[in-house]
Amino acid sequence: MSESFKITIPDYVCAVMAEINKFSLFPDEDYLRGKSYVVGGCVRDALLGRTPNDWDVTTNLPAEEILNIFSALPGFDAYPTGIEHGTVTVVRDNLPVEVTTFRFDVGYVNHRHPTAVLFLDSIDRDLERRDFTINAMAYSPESGIIDLNGGAHDLENGIIRCVGKPEERFDEDALRIIRALRFASVLDFEIEKDTAKAALDLRGLLTFISRERITSELEKLLCGKAAARVLRDFHLIIEDIFPALAGDSVIRAAEYVSKLGDAAYPLKLAALLSDIEPHRIQGAFMNLRLDNKTRRHAENILLHLHTELGDNAALKRLCRDIGSDAARDVIRLGIARSERDDSLLRTLSDICTSGECFTTAELRISGKELLSMGAIPHEIGKILDTLLERVIKNELPNDQTALQGAADTLINRKETT
Ligand code: ATP
Ligand code: MG
Repeated sequence: MSESFKITIPDYVCAVMAEINKFSLFPDEDYLRGKSYVVGGCVRDALLGRTPNDWDVTTNLPAEEILNIFSALPGFDAYPTGIEHGTVTVVRDNLPVEVTTFRFDVGYVNHRHPTAVLFLDSIDRDLERRDFTINAMAYSPESGIIDLNGGAHDLENGIIRCVGKPEERFDEDALRIIRALRFASVLDFEIEKDTAKAALDLRGLLTFISRERITSELEKLLCGKAAARVLRDFHLIIEDIFPALAGDSVIRAAEYVSKLGDAAYPLKLAALLSDIEPHRIQGAFMNLRLDNKTRRHAENILLHLHTELGDNAALKRLCRDIGSDAARDVIRLGIARSERDDSLLRTLSDICTSGECFTTAELRISGKELLSMGAIPHEIGKILDTLLERVIKNELPNDQTALQGAADTLINRKETT
């Protein structure tokens, strides 16, 4: 990688850097003249030709100074989002840029948090505190790429390698263990031998890491292009996160994940957990901090993994109970596990495209109409369910006259079986 490599920095980030570079405490001296670089993940992604998720800036100026500069400047907002760690979030054109003072972390507690942070005047040690060589590069248009730890070489060779001694770096902050797996999966990189050994040896320290952090790294890992390989090679780490994944479960899950291709996260997560004994699934979910939608979707897939889907009516009942998207995922996981036939996907797609009815909302009769026909309010739900079941079984067409006739009989004979 040539040091003269040019990175195209977006305008809103350039605007922030330009203001920092203009700053000078003593205009006639170089002392405390503002310097700024983009750093970390954005440099890595730009060099890989990927679009960075976010642009982080590192600077020699103290966070308080950054806050003062940008709070006073029209067109910018500044928030002290992590001032004790040197971070201020500057907003330009509604887009946030995290600006952090060059720093070095000293001493760690609970294998995660630095006990103290030293702010520095030079970027070198700031790069040294970063987790992996590929994440430890900085760039500015004036200086080109600053790569003091061999990051560009590792990037070209597809290698995840700790900056410094892997055991020390994982012992300081065990989150880096699962981050290593995440980057290996997302970028389809190999984890360098000593880094891999240290990650496996120190995996027990992951118990110090919050469920939120594990969950967000695991999501990226499972959705990465090399997820199956990483799960297979580092199954011991995954088993430490989910003690219920016994025996060869993770190795088998790697196979399912690989067959699922680019499926979304809830399905990949369900695949990972699909060999857990049913009574331990809730416990496995407790190890994560999932949003309700993801959790419900993954749980529904697992709950119905072995539901009999022998005929159209069974498929429609499944759609009724969990929705057609989750039903499709039940089938996809079943196929990946070689327990269901591909043809079920076609049957489901036919059901969905032909507009067949499988929810009470799609019935051509409403609760309001039932009320006007004399139904007692608290029985309406039950009547609609009964009508839907008959429609699902093709005993009754989904048309208004037929449904009104059947509803009338149910209302007058109280026949809601
Ligand atoms: P993403 O594409 O997910 O944003 P990223 O590498 O930018 O990946 P961030 O969590 O945004 O990851 O962190 C930004 C940078 O901060 C990293 O590139 C790395 O240099 C540094 N960093 C983040 N987490 C750690 C950590 N736990 N230990 C050391 N350095 C870290
Ligand atoms: Mg980032």
